Amino acid sequence: MTLKNPAGVNDLLPDAAHKQQLLVRAAFRVFGCYGYRYMETPMFEKTEVFTRGIGEATDVVGKEIYCVYPMNSIAGVSPDDRSALEGLALRPENTAGIARAVVQHNLVPPGAFQAKLWYAGSMFRHERQQKGRYREFRQIGAECIGATEPSADAEVILMLLHYFEALGIPRSHMTLKINSMGDEACRPAYRRAVQDYILARESEFCPECQRRATGNPLRAFDCKSEACQAALSAAPRITEYLCEECASQYAQVKQLLDSSGLAYEEDPRLVRGFDYYTRTVFEVQVDLGLGAQNAIGGGGRYDRLLQEYGAKPTPSLGFAVGLERIVMVLEALGTAAALPPAAQVFVAAVDEEARSQAFELAQKLREAGVSVELDHQARSLKSQFKVADKADVGFVVLLGPDERAKGSYTLRNMTDGTQQELTLDELLQLLTER
Ligand SMILES: [Zn+2]
Ligand SMILES: [Zn+2]
Repeated sequence: MTLKNPAGVNDLLPDAAHKQQLLVRAAFRVFGCYGYRYMETPMFEKTEVFTRGIGEATDVVGKEIYCVYPMNSIAGVSPDDRSALEGLALRPENTAGIARAVVQHNLVPPGAFQAKLWYAGSMFRHERQQKGRYREFRQIGAECIGATEPSADAEVILMLLHYFEALGIPRSHMTLKINSMGDEACRPAYRRAVQDYILARESEFCPECQRRATGNPLRAFDCKSEACQAALSAAPRITEYLCEECASQYAQVKQLLDSSGLAYEEDPRLVRGFDYYTRTVFEVQVDLGLGAQNAIGGGGRYDRLLQEYGAKPTPSLGFAVGLERIVMVLEALGTAAALPPAAQVFVAAVDEEARSQAFELAQKLREAGVSVELDHQARSLKSQFKVADKADVGFVVLLGPDERAKGSYTLRNMTDGTQQELTLDELLQLLTER
């Protein structure tokens, strides 16, 4: 019996892996222009890192997190008692881990210049199976730690749009949505207003939203049920509840976006899923490739998150983008990069005697920077050519009795079928120039 991967997690075969790697390379390039440094945090952390930051009342922490136990520690422990074990969890996102690491390593002591950090890697959530949602998914994200000013918000948003454009997603296919979620001064009143609103017409909401109403009423804005969305149409708007400081900060962010010529839509229902968000939140949606769940990236401010890990107040913000989702959009646009041939050159041995010479030549060419493939299965010359043709190489170098006698190399151009006889130096020069 063959083994298969679990539901909701995917093998990244070379073509898919190549497409995702290009997204990472583009991030190095674009984020580098804004002074960001790449870093990594562990794939699993103490569960507390996520419960403190993301919030216990969110779906992600409440239902979707994968706990990690060493096999020997759960032997004989019933599932009900496992919470007593040291809690480790696979990361469902990476902002909490970065914030934990920044505080632990004191990367932004009080008064220090902002730290700009970015990451790429797998995240894990036990999601319901649906198009474009996976249980292991890859994200790239950037975090600007220790920046209070609205210019930091505008810069992060501009960088996100710059990145998408650099990947080949035209501005015309993207919609930037922004909102302010308020802060600890003004959000509680808004949360109460939404709670009262839902409770007053409870029967119009799905059981999930009825449950949310007491714990985390703002999550109702994310509910997939059309009935809930309709019931929310007259719900109070956060903009009417913003305190003076939040309102002023939001106005300045919008002004900076205006003067940068960046179009955006204000969406008072944009309430990003995690508890740690404060003030500015944003999301980029596309009009192709993803269907109704059309966001390819988003983020916001999390001015209080680092305090959860013991830091002094360290206002910060960031975003994350989903690689699988971006690739789906690029494929819909027809601009996803094709996997290039594995090798430029195939070295073919005409007879048995030429095999060791072919092996040596392949190594010489590789050390000169040329990508080379050759046969390791004692195939006939005809089947070597078939392989070379299928591998889409540009050139085949032939080695056989004639070449041995003359001390030369026959180079066949696979595009036009022409052949030429070359010395080793000429061959090296010609192939390294390509
Ligand atoms: Zn609902
Ligand atoms: Zn406020």
